[in-house]
Amino acid sequence: MKYRLMDLLACPICKKFPLELKVFRESEIQPPQKINRCELYCAYHNIELSSNVSTECLKCYSIEIRDGIIICSNCGRWYPIEEEIPRMLPDELRNKNEDTQFLAKWRTRIPEKILLEGKPYSMKN
Ligand SMILES: [Zn+2]
Ligand SMILES: [Zn+2]
Repeated sequence: MKYRLMDLLACPICKKFPLELKVFRESEIQPPQKINRCELYCAYHNIELSSNVSTECLKCYSIEIRDGIIICSNCGRWYPIEEEIPRMLPDELRNKNEDTQFLAKWRTRIPEKILLEGKPYSMKN
């Protein structure tokens, strides 16, 4: 996924926006011909935008995030990004085994709060 997507994603459970992004692996790709700017939240620059702030958003379109995690600071949920795909699933569609494997794989890169208390799954349950 591109950084740009964070300008559009809200938590599917509590609707919080914007969400936190932590990137584990990324790669540069050819940017598209038409580049817009992020409108509400620019994840690459980590700023919420208002009418008097504007950003250079080339990187938001030309970096492919391969693995990472999206965190909702409001309800404590986290969502994996694997093989470029963010998996923004409601709790009942999540797979506990896959989720705990993901946490174990990236545990040195994931905030401790998520490892210990993340929802719907953490390293503790
Ligand atoms: Zn941007
Ligand atoms: Zn949430």
